Amino acid sequence: VNDGAQYDVIVSGAGLAGSAAAIWFGRAGLRVALLERSPDPDHYKRICTHEIQASAVPLVEELGLSDALTEIGTPRRRVAAYVHPFGWIRPEHAPGEADARSNYNVRREKIDPMVRRVAAETPGVDLMLDRRVTGLVRERGRVTGAVARSRSGATTEIRAGLVVGADGRESTVARASERRERRFPNGRFVFWSYFDGVELPFAPEAQTWLLDPDVAYALPTDGGLTLLSTMLSSPRLPEYREDAEGLWRRVWSSLPDGPSLDGVRREGPFLARLDMTLHKRRPAGGGLALVGDAALNTDPMWGWGCGWALETAKALAERTAEALRSGRGLPAALLRYRLWHQARFWSFQSFAAHYAHGRPFTPVQRAVFKAATLDNTAALRLHSFETAYTGFSAIGSPRAMLHTARVCLADALGSAAPATGGSDGLSGRRGPLPPGAPSPADRQADNRVLSS
Ligand SMILES: Cc1cc2nc3c(=O)[nH]c(=O)nc-3n(C[C@H](O)[C@H](O)[C@H](O)COP(=O)(O)OP(=O)(O)OC[C@H]3O[C@@H](n4cnc5c(N)ncnc54)[C@H](O)[C@@H]3O)c2cc1C
Repeated sequence: VNDGAQYDVIVSGAGLAGSAAAIWFGRAGLRVALLERSPDPDHYKRICTHEIQASAVPLVEELGLSDALTEIGTPRRRVAAYVHPFGWIRPEHAPGEADARSNYNVRREKIDPMVRRVAAETPGVDLMLDRRVTGLVRERGRVTGAVARSRSGATTEIRAGLVVGADGRESTVARASERRERRFPNGRFVFWSYFDGVELPFAPEAQTWLLDPDVAYALPTDGGLTLLSTMLSSPRLPEYREDAEGLWRRVWSSLPDGPSLDGVRREGPFLARLDMTLHKRRPAGGGLALVGDAALNTDPMWGWGCGWALETAKALAERTAEALRSGRGLPAALLRYRLWHQARFWSFQSFAAHYAHGRPFTPVQRAVFKAATLDNTAALRLHSFETAYTGFSAIGSPRAMLHTARVCLADALGSAAPATGGSDGLSGRRGPLPPGAPSPADRQADNRVLSS
């Protein structure tokens, strides 16, 4: 590539968001320079637990990845959630809808190279490996290009109508553009590994445990492996540093309805993220746009980021492609993207930022979770929010709140079952189940609405 090469779009970062953006811009007939700092075409993000929410599955299909994912044995599952101290949430969808409401779980070492390959093969897209974007080119206060450097020290300057930052949570593009950024502290750390021989009591569903404040999740993934992830509040960091394996065993052997650890083999090291600070940045303006984590990072708690990487990429391409083709109206198109971004994600972001503190659930959140363990309509609404189909209105609209209140009231007036749960290893507030007490699974089976 020569200095001064001209493209319609420059995309910094060929991860999920960047590769997807390049594909959608390329399909819209635009010329795209896709710059990736790694020299390895099979490079992938290691620190990710890679649940792809059901709301993003249609985008995965649109990108043309479904067959390849099926070939490598990528499971599609719904997730059963245990919420302390209320019990299990297992929404039952209408026949025919359940499949559409299932998530993918696939290791990043599989999906990142896959989507990058599709990008490289898309007409109009030039994938350039070993090109770390180091700065932006500006003219009359507007971004008009980017500067990239290779490992050998060679620099390249490229011009384009639009520069897209898809370079992850520490986005160089966002920093170079001096975007306003807000950070949100996270009172938890996470560690996980892959295991063979895990039998989940609620198979084929995946399982998650919200123990308020600690969290664990078991996600079957490609290759017949299961990812077991443990997210604990920060005061437990010394325990992790002293003996990660021991802590893992204590946590997983004490989960209500957890998998048996007999015959389970760890395949690979424990991976961890100890600082999980969240952020959001203004996603567009001045000839520049941000997609994926570069604009917003709410994970790992809810597993939204991979899906949103694809969704933001598509939304940006849809709103700006015509302006880039015609050379007219880009500022208005970027404003539309910015407004869409705000409307789509604010409720998720606020919810995630609040929960990231590691504080216990608020009374309203407790009511929403409790209702979802008791009533299928409430469970379906929560599921719709969790899988990012709908925003907070799914659970926070007056109608939804009224329903929640009714369910909780009926439960309080009726046979208010004793809260159950046991969690020696996690910081749950209850001891082991007393003899004869109903387990969360028993309670689930008794649940008059779910089991009807
Ligand atoms: C512990 C953890 C667990 C998570 N689990 C989940 C989950 O279960 N489900 C989920 O949906 N999300 C999860 N996430 C979030 C998810 O990992 C991110 O939201 C997702 O990777 C965002 O994709 P992206 O393409 O924006 O960024 P990235 O995947 O980070 O890709 C950025 C790309 O840009 C490249 N790059 C960086 N800087 C430059 C530069 N200067 N020049 C050129 N290239 C550059 C990188 O090499 C990389 O290829 C998790 C996150 C963490 C930390």
